[in-house]
Amino acid sequence: MNSVLRVGCEHQVIRQDLHVHSEFSDGYDTIERIVKRAHEIKLDVIAITDHFWPSLGSKDERGLIERRRGIINEMRNEYGLRILDGAEVDIMPDGTLAPIEEGYDQFDIIIGSVHFCLDSNEWAKAVSKAAELGIIDILGHFDGYLQSYSPTYGELVARSLAKNNVAIELSSRYEVKHLDFIELARDQGCKFTIGSDAHSANEIGRFQREVELARVMDLDLCDYRMKL
Ligand SMILES: [Zn+2]
Ligand SMILES: [Zn+2]
Repeated sequence: MNSVLRVGCEHQVIRQDLHVHSEFSDGYDTIERIVKRAHEIKLDVIAITDHFWPSLGSKDERGLIERRRGIINEMRNEYGLRILDGAEVDIMPDGTLAPIEEGYDQFDIIIGSVHFCLDSNEWAKAVSKAAELGIIDILGHFDGYLQSYSPTYGELVARSLAKNNVAIELSSRYEVKHLDFIELARDQGCKFTIGSDAHSANEIGRFQREVELARVMDLDLCDYRMKL
């Protein structure tokens, strides 16, 4: 269980970007460039969360996860910040997760995301089922592909995420549309994370709007500084 951060006062800086893609999936930049940028903007934690085959946006290449891990480990010694070796996995419409070669346990952090358009009912079924697998740490861009929303289904999802300790991401790539869901989830005891979903190094840490949202709505943010 992670400790919790609160955005207590105006303009407080959050120094954790928990959703970044590198050239090992559909991002443009190298891990070296990403970590250097994170260091420059004084982040404490960065999670490099690539898509791996067969998730959407992945590359089908042998040995890619291991090569990437080697670079992450080298970078850990070079800079003071905490680098999480992560993955963003597709939540399939039936609530299963796209597989990863060698499994999910090899990663420090797993984001589960829906990348298919679903309506409220389908979304609730898929996300609740995925949360119950006990694999995902974070639900990525929760309403990025949501076609319709009803609070009844929102409550179902919020309960399942709270029960299974899955945090909800406030994404700066997919603007949060359903603030009523955030409110509901907060009241159910859900935790939150903030992620840029950066695909290039200069997008890292650009999430002031989401930090402000967390402050205004008094959300508990997971603190990954202590994890690993
Ligand atoms: Zn995504
Ligand atoms: Zn992503």
